[in-house]
Amino acid sequence: YQGLAGRSTYEVLQLYAAHGQQVKFQRSSVVTQLHGAIKKRLKQDLKSLHSLALELSKDFQRQSKTCLYQVLAAVQGIQLQNEAMQMFQIKAFDLEQSLQEVTERYEKEKQKRKALHNSLIELRGNIRVHCRIRPLLPFDDAAGHSQDRQRNFSEKVAYAADDETVLVKCSRPGHASVNKTFQFERVYNDLESQDAVFSDVAPLLTSLLDGYNVCIMAYGQTGSGKTYTMLGPQLEGNLAFAIEEESELGIIPRATQEVFRLISEKPPGSYWVEVSVVEVYNNEIFDLLAKDSCGKVFGVKRDVVTTREGKSDVPLLTHETVENASEFLHLVNKGLQLRVTHPTLVHAHSSRSHLVVTLTITTVVFGDNFGTLWEDEQSSQRLNKEASFTFPQKMRDNKSTSSSRASSPVQLEATEKMKQVKTRLQLVDLAGSECVGMSGVTGAALRETSFINRSLSALADVLGAIAEQRAHIPYRNSKLTHLLQDSVGGDAKLLVMLCISPGQKYLTESMQSLGFGTRARQVQRGQAKKKNFPVLSKGK
Ligand code: ADP
Ligand code: MG
Repeated sequence: YQGLAGRSTYEVLQLYAAHGQQVKFQRSSVVTQLHGAIKKRLKQDLKSLHSLALELSKDFQRQSKTCLYQVLAAVQGIQLQNEAMQMFQIKAFDLEQSLQEVTERYEKEKQKRKALHNSLIELRGNIRVHCRIRPLLPFDDAAGHSQDRQRNFSEKVAYAADDETVLVKCSRPGHASVNKTFQFERVYNDLESQDAVFSDVAPLLTSLLDGYNVCIMAYGQTGSGKTYTMLGPQLEGNLAFAIEEESELGIIPRATQEVFRLISEKPPGSYWVEVSVVEVYNNEIFDLLAKDSCGKVFGVKRDVVTTREGKSDVPLLTHETVENASEFLHLVNKGLQLRVTHPTLVHAHSSRSHLVVTLTITTVVFGDNFGTLWEDEQSSQRLNKEASFTFPQKMRDNKSTSSSRASSPVQLEATEKMKQVKTRLQLVDLAGSECVGMSGVTGAALRETSFINRSLSALADVLGAIAEQRAHIPYRNSKLTHLLQDSVGGDAKLLVMLCISPGQKYLTESMQSLGFGTRARQVQRGQAKKKNFPVLSKGK
């Protein structure tokens, strides 16, 4: 058994070995198969990879070629643009140079224009008189003088014979009627519009921005159309005027619009406008824009003084800065509601005070432009008199917001070189010029009338003194003339708008007004005779 077991074990071992060999053999044949399959697969993959790589490289080549073309095109474009840019630079340089030349030429032309405009205005007379005859109106029918009821009061006796002549038919009971004529620079008939009246006023506003003071005043009896001409039609039962009726607006609103239009053509920020509205009543000046602590407007009495430079000034007078015409109109309308009036027999809304609306235009002039901007001697003298440079509140506020940026020494120096020059436009709606008897007033109203008459004769005296070129002009004889001093005498431009009621009923008053206008015109004639008009120097 041992032997048998040993043999069996041996056999088992052999069998094991054989089994192992068989397993080995089997395995190696699977591996070979697998190997073969893998190899085959790898070969396939490699082939496809190769073709893919080939494809990719071809694609890459194609793409890089197109990119290259694009880059080339871009480079060419840039070169072209560079050339164009250089051309533009040269052109810009040329343009800059010609702009400078044109600017210089423009400055010269501007001076010439100013001088010519001023000579034109002076040729027409620094004081000129226009006359406007209003249409006959329903209230002209009301009876006038009690002794003279038979006469036809509404009969028209004053006409515009032509553009420069007023014809008045003067008739007295029992006498043949006599025609009298009066000549003025311009006469408007009853059909002429507010627009036509203003078109003759507008050139004066050019003078205003050229540095001359201007005054436009309406003279005439109550009801003759002064307020209509200066402001426009009055609102029903209200002293304010109708702002909405554009075509009916009078000289004051139109002049303001024109001033702002002219300013809009100038460099921004170089001009600003302040407004004051005063009333001269019983030889007292009332500030119609003064406000109480609650901000309510009420008239405060002010006084007019003469400054050391010999100019008239109203200390503490309210000046409001306005930035456009509508701001101005609302402000003036507010002031107007305070006007003192007294209903006389002539007209329910007769105003018994002089209304003076003043626009003060302040111009900023830079030091460097000083010589070129104001070539004429008078203007530069005017400029040199101005000392300190003060911005109004609104401008100061604007300045402070931009000051963080404006701190370079160059800018500071520029600020120091700035000067300001002020010119004034005074627009006056005078109180009615009628005689006491005609208006039938007594008591307080009589006092008013005598103050009005005194101030109007003071105005006539001032114009007379200017005409005779007297050394002393009696501006201070009344608050009215004192207030208007700077825009009546000297090289200031004054336009008197005579307002005439055409009816027979107002004949005496109309003749008085025409007489005043004729005397005022003598001023112009007197000046024209004595004054050598400035001939433009060769340089201009
Ligand atoms: P004044 O201010 O001289 O007292 P107003 O301007 O108040 O006179 O005019 C008196 C009246 O005549 C007003 O009703 C006004 O509307 C009217 N009026 C004046 N001028 C004209 C005119 N040119 N066309 C039409 N109405 C006018
Ligand atoms: Mg009036």
